[in-house]
Amino acid sequence: MNNLNKICVFCGSSDGNDSKITEAAIHLGKVFAKKDITLVYGAAKIGVMGTIAKTSLDNNGKVIGIIPQFLKKKEVVHLGLTQLITTQNMHERKLQMQEISDGFIALPGGFGTLEELFEIITWLQLGLHTKPIGLLNVNGFYDNLLKLLETMVRKGFLPMENYNMLLVATSVENLLQKMEDFKTPRVPKWLKPERT
Ligand code: AMP
Repeated sequence: MNNLNKICVFCGSSDGNDSKITEAAIHLGKVFAKKDITLVYGAAKIGVMGTIAKTSLDNNGKVIGIIPQFLKKKEVVHLGLTQLITTQNMHERKLQMQEISDGFIALPGGFGTLEELFEIITWLQLGLHTKPIGLLNVNGFYDNLLKLLETMVRKGFLPMENYNMLLVATSVENLLQKMEDFKTPRVPKWLKPERT
């Protein structure tokens, strides 16, 4: 079983227009606080990001924000976090998020969220880390993305075992359970016996 003391959440810097997504963000923030899971995230006070951080803090949870210097503007950055880490650039930020977190969850978002999700899963399939990655598919938001991943498997670009590395659930509770139970795949994508 994986100990999930710190989970990094990738999600929209916008609120979007589906109230179910805001509800899911609020629920996630409450569950983290209740389970004493520290939220690690991009340190913004806006959008879904801000909703999760605020809910977690309002419920006495711990929140670590990691933000690159150039994004550290007072209209964006949350200054009431348990800890705020400033990095030189986006790459250093991503590396720190990976190093200090025990797992990762993506909620609905835009380009930034997808970029973060796919970089962290790419690092997993390359064997650069062994931590669970969950996708919270709120109200069908990620249905079409999951269809695309199935196409990648069918067309031979994504091995089934790598597709299965991405844990998917529609509820926070199921997702956390899958992440706790996650067993690191034995062989990373590029180190298969037939390729070496
Ligand atoms: P997006 O999904 O395009 O809204 O981007 C959200 C993701 O990118 C978050 O998980 C953040 O880590 C990062 N990000 C995007 N915009 C900001 C911002 N203004 N402040 C901090 N992080 C941001």
